Amino acid sequence: MRNAKIRTKITLWFALVLALVIGITVALLFSVGETVARDGARTDLKEVVTENGGQVRYTENPSRIDPHASVIPWGSGTLVVKTGFLDQFNGVDCGLYDAQGQMLFGQKMPSVSGGTPDFQDGKLRTVQAGKKHYYLLDRAVKIDGQGEVWIRGVIDREYDRELFLRVYRLLYLFLPVLVLLASLAVFRIARRLLSPVEDIAEEVGHISRETDLSRRVSIDTGDNEIRSLVQAINGMLERLEGSYRSGKQFTSLVSHELRTPITVILAQSELALEEDPPEEAREAFEIIQKQGRRVNKGLDSLLQFIRLENLAEVYEMEEVNLSRVVTDTCREFHAVREKNIRLQAETEEDVRIRGNASLLRVLLENLIVNAYKYGVEDGVIRVSVAEESGEAVLSVSDDGIGVAPEDRERIFEWLYQANPTTTPKGGSGYGLFIVRAIAELHGARMELDSAVGEGSTFRIRFPALQAAGLP
Ligand code: ADP
Repeated sequence: MRNAKIRTKITLWFALVLALVIGITVALLFSVGETVARDGARTDLKEVVTENGGQVRYTENPSRIDPHASVIPWGSGTLVVKTGFLDQFNGVDCGLYDAQGQMLFGQKMPSVSGGTPDFQDGKLRTVQAGKKHYYLLDRAVKIDGQGEVWIRGVIDREYDRELFLRVYRLLYLFLPVLVLLASLAVFRIARRLLSPVEDIAEEVGHISRETDLSRRVSIDTGDNEIRSLVQAINGMLERLEGSYRSGKQFTSLVSHELRTPITVILAQSELALEEDPPEEAREAFEIIQKQGRRVNKGLDSLLQFIRLENLAEVYEMEEVNLSRVVTDTCREFHAVREKNIRLQAETEEDVRIRGNASLLRVLLENLIVNAYKYGVEDGVIRVSVAEESGEAVLSVSDDGIGVAPEDRERIFEWLYQANPTTTPKGGSGYGLFIVRAIAELHGARMELDSAVGEGSTFRIRFPALQAAGLP
């Protein structure tokens, strides 16, 4: 979850909150609905029983009886039940009884009190019959000098609740579907809203990989937040580019300014040495010469780096026999006796690419120098060139210290040196940067296979000659 994308997190949180809100609302509605339903059942019962009380009367004069009414002989006269007597209404069953529980009119009740009437005037009770619960209400109708008859009404306690229950069941059934649909909608919206952020990350990644600080992020969605983010990134790139450029200008100036005095110092000490000076002076001149050469080498690298900017303009691209570049370069290294490492070249003949032979030599030299530097005593360096499915593949392998996974991308950065404790002294941190710049100029892809303690293989895949645009 911690590593999940923001849009997934938003969707999950939304789904959780939505499910909670709907769940709580439905639960609240349920409890309120239940109370309302029970109140409704009781009110209906009271109304029907009270209403029916007014529909029963006693008469001893048969001529005044409504022809539609029901008549029941009672005592010395007649009980008249008017047509308005509701024996079944709104779930309420209602009946008329004599004091002994004998039904005179209306609906037969569920057997609610084991047969004994147990009438209680005006008292609403809850009774059980079988598994069901009922509300029950009796009402006595007094008849002058003749005792009383009873009206009894019952209603299933769950009568109104049934309706609510059906609605709730439907709601609970639809809850997951509802949450799922809403979450899907939120996921799509979040994806749309956040896609500019992904595009920005991709563009910035591109700029950083290509180390092209003159490029800017061009995404504009019209949203204020995205626009401010893009402006902030572009502002930062502008400042970076400014300081990078002035740094380079400064470096260029310094290297050119130092070049002449160093050349003079070297020439003078050479001359002095040729004059066969006394022992102490010779030692001093030799030190001057050694240090001078070091400074000169440093200046070379600095200038090389500065020129990398306009490699494409300075160096002409033409058809190059890569196999020959490899053979020639390796031959120059055969005299090297460092750490007793052997250098083996395995070259397929006449592998040709479009490129610049001098730059390719610099690329290869840097890789071979590194292989010596980070190689082990009595190790082997293998340099090979071959054609593989239309690509020209140049590779330099060593059985040296290897590169840790977390450093594999970074070692190609300017001045980056992996773990300085294992890095031998004398490194500069820009060898691989130059290698990558040259590879990119040739439209090649760089690959690195490495295992710490086992060695590294730097592989460069150049496009086939035809694909590179030469006949
Ligand atoms: P450096 O001058 O330090 O060698 P590079 O740019 O040539 O600078 O290399 C950058 C870093 O990459 C080095 O400091 C080293 O840690 C690592 N590296 C380069 N080549 C190898 C190799 N063949 N084996 C192991 N590590 C290497």
